[in-house]
Amino acid sequence: MLALQGDTREHLAALREAGADAVTVRRRSELDGVDGLVIPGGESTTMSHLLREFGLLEPLRALLREGLPAYGSCAGMILLSSEIVDAGVPGREALPLGGIDMTVRRNAFGRQVDSFEEDVAFDGLDGTVHAVFIRAPWVERIGEGVEVLAEAAGHPVAVRQGRVVATAFHPEITGDRRVHHLFVSSL
Ligand code: GLN
Repeated sequence: MLALQGDTREHLAALREAGADAVTVRRRSELDGVDGLVIPGGESTTMSHLLREFGLLEPLRALLREGLPAYGSCAGMILLSSEIVDAGVPGREALPLGGIDMTVRRNAFGRQVDSFEEDVAFDGLDGTVHAVFIRAPWVERIGEGVEVLAEAAGHPVAVRQGRVVATAFHPEITGDRRVHHLFVSSL
């Protein structure tokens, strides 16, 4: 669990309930030996700044290139992309780590529907998932080999490439552990 900023507590609880032996990561050395990385919801520009300050940006990019499994929700989805539209003010912008070949738009749903909830069909899970969107991104382009797992407003909001998964919404705050379980059971 990348614990620089964001809703790490909720993800830690969700991961443990999904059967993972979850630990927090703030330093490069703490990445050694993890089976996978979760990047929480929060603020992708702040997390990017801290990743750089803590010397984690390039090590994480390299680990993802080498195939480190990862799951990111909301700000975590933004960071797991390969390209960000509306990344923020230059110098303080959100920085892509790679992991999934996709372009995401930050704060895509706009001011009117800033935050909303919707039940979405999720590939691989029975029934629907109650999806909570909070100033959420959506996916504007996916590369070859990227699967769309869920859509809202005509855009992909959950995707997977290999063992890297990203959701624009926050399953960690709903009590439904199926998305975390899906990730944990793939490790
Ligand atoms: N809008 C935030 C960002 O750009 C994401 C919001 C969230 O994680 N709930 O990082």
